[in-house]
Amino acid sequence: MRPTQRERGLIDIPEKHPNQTSSMHKKKRTYNTRRIKRDISYNMQEISELFGIHKNAVRNWFKAGLPKIDARRPFMVHGSDLIEFLNNRQTKRKRKCKSDELYCFRCRAPRKAKTGSIEFIPLSETKLNIHGKCEECGTSTYRAGSIKKRQEYERIFAFVTLAEKHITDRKHPPVNCHFI
Ligand SMILES: [Zn+2]
Repeated sequence: MRPTQRERGLIDIPEKHPNQTSSMHKKKRTYNTRRIKRDISYNMQEISELFGIHKNAVRNWFKAGLPKIDARRPFMVHGSDLIEFLNNRQTKRKRKCKSDELYCFRCRAPRKAKTGSIEFIPLSETKLNIHGKCEECGTSTYRAGSIKKRQEYERIFAFVTLAEKHITDRKHPPVNCHFI
């Protein structure tokens, strides 16, 4: 009998269940790269034991680009490569915000900020924080940015300066004198 696709290892376990919507967003595991020793080489068994994961998970990391030292079996991985691979993967996952979104730690998702809640707080000569309130839950949230791009952020986040805000908030505009 022919082996099934799964037995031949041809079926990847899907990262996301097809019915899962982004709002249901399952939290993926974050691996503590401090457990990895930079100058040591690891084989698949050792990596799977280090994190208590199945060897198939490590096989998937190879498919995703984790570098092997060479093609000889058992495959060996440099500690420093493993650290870099996991760190990259984990940061990419965190940076899913679109340009007009901030990551809300309460919703655990990228969110748009409430209109008029955006503030720019300079941190240094080059850096600033973009503060805003989550449109969904109102939690204060922020994102790091660069001072150079401030104008770009103002456009992206439809930033309203205090003066402009004052005008738009005014429900009864002052009645103009009728000059004839
Ligand atoms: Zn939120």
